[in-house]
Amino acid sequence: MEIQANNLKRQFDLHAGEYNRKALEVLDSGWYILGKEVKEFEKEFASYIGSKYCAGVASGMDALTIAFRILGIGKNDEVIVCSNAYIACVMGITLNDATPVFVEPDEYDNLDADKIEEKINAHTRAILAVHLYGQSCDMTKICELARKYNLKVVEDCAQAHGTAWKDKKCGSIGDIACWSFYPTKNLGAFGDGGAITTNDPEYDAQVRVIRNYGSKKLHYENDIIGMNSRLDEMQAGLLRVKLTYLDELNKERNRIAKRYLTEVQNPLIRPLLTRPGSNNVYHQFVIHCAKRDQLMAYLKENGISTIIHYPIPPHLQKAYECLGYQKGDFPIAEKYANEVLSLPMYNGMTSEEIDYVIDKLNHFEG
Ligand SMILES: *Cc1c(COP(=O)(O)O)cnc(C)c1O
Repeated sequence: MEIQANNLKRQFDLHAGEYNRKALEVLDSGWYILGKEVKEFEKEFASYIGSKYCAGVASGMDALTIAFRILGIGKNDEVIVCSNAYIACVMGITLNDATPVFVEPDEYDNLDADKIEEKINAHTRAILAVHLYGQSCDMTKICELARKYNLKVVEDCAQAHGTAWKDKKCGSIGDIACWSFYPTKNLGAFGDGGAITTNDPEYDAQVRVIRNYGSKKLHYENDIIGMNSRLDEMQAGLLRVKLTYLDELNKERNRIAKRYLTEVQNPLIRPLLTRPGSNNVYHQFVIHCAKRDQLMAYLKENGISTIIHYPIPPHLQKAYECLGYQKGDFPIAEKYANEVLSLPMYNGMTSEEIDYVIDKLNHFEG
């Protein structure tokens, strides 16, 4: 049996008729940028998240870049971020000339809130809470620290569409939240897309100006030096269709996860658990294995593809040589990079496929 790590065609096929109808409707409308679909999607997504405002942008990377710009975070400023975060999180900080300050992850593979305080100094301006793999950071502790030291909280929700911390959805808790609709995300578009949600009308207004060449009007009056970062009508229309199924799609991911959690019984494999206080939308189903590379090769031999999220932590990437870190500086992030593996997890995965993956995992002997 051949099983991909992810299979977007399966998810498309679940509601293909509706996507096809919407795509033709947008084509037929004659209006392709900043129109009715984007406006309606922004309203519907803000309402789903429980935040007051939502503005579409071109990608998750742009959302992060714009968020720090709006907060006025730049040269000589520091932003706290998890040492095992995705590279885009760090780039959003450094594209604004600010400095990332890494904090090691805890046993839930995400920002250890108990290790933040020791990194706060006079330059610290914000905490970037990346809700990695589909579960929430400890937003209670993070928001308490932010209040105590007068810091901003930016949420990276690119892997957390539908995740909640206690009774609030991620993306409605911090000052600004950044979203990606890259096709593999839980709420994935059919191309690139992103958004910023916030409860602050000023921040929302600034996103709308920056994303459109610094213009408040549709065309040709430019108040500031902005950029071109817009969610297009086609993606917004298709996202509106998918948003109506998001809870259902997340439930299906939870059903697959539950089978992995209960039926994978191999002492060499430790599934990542969910932090109490958070739910999990299982953007990835991550396991730890000391013999990760052997496990990955063994699964591949048996037709099962898996992915490592992520093999090189940001502080060891060539792009960030300029930060001056070396191997050993963030030992937990480095250990995780050698141990983590994301099992096949996608909507439309059949029970035979799940059976097969579980059986192979249980027969792995190292
Ligand atoms: C995907 C992702 C991004 C970047 O989103 P793009 O839309 O691909 O630019 C940022 N942060 C995290 C945590 C992500 O998973």
